[in-house]
Amino acid sequence: MKCPRCQKDVTELVGGVCEGCHDEVMYEYEQLHRCCPMCGSDNYSTTMMGFVYVPGTPLINKNHAKCMKCGWKGIVHDLTRGKEISI
Ligand SMILES: [Zn+2]
Ligand SMILES: [Zn+2]
Repeated sequence: MKCPRCQKDVTELVGGVCEGCHDEVMYEYEQLHRCCPMCGSDNYSTTMMGFVYVPGTPLINKNHAKCMKCGWKGIVHDLTRGKEISI
């Protein structure tokens, strides 16, 4: 099998890409969606629904998130990148 993202030959694909790419994409996504859009706090709770990366489609984590600081409610995708993180 060939990973459509890095073109490497791999034995198994996770969510359509190789494990390395999958981890990379998930990690990047996490860094971009980790703070409350209202107060900037990273102290929130989320539901843990399965969430996989499908190449060619926008990555949207629809798990519910709730800020423990200001009470904001939304989905993980609405969370913003932390100020101290720069990519
Ligand atoms: Zn790959
Ligand atoms: Zn908040």
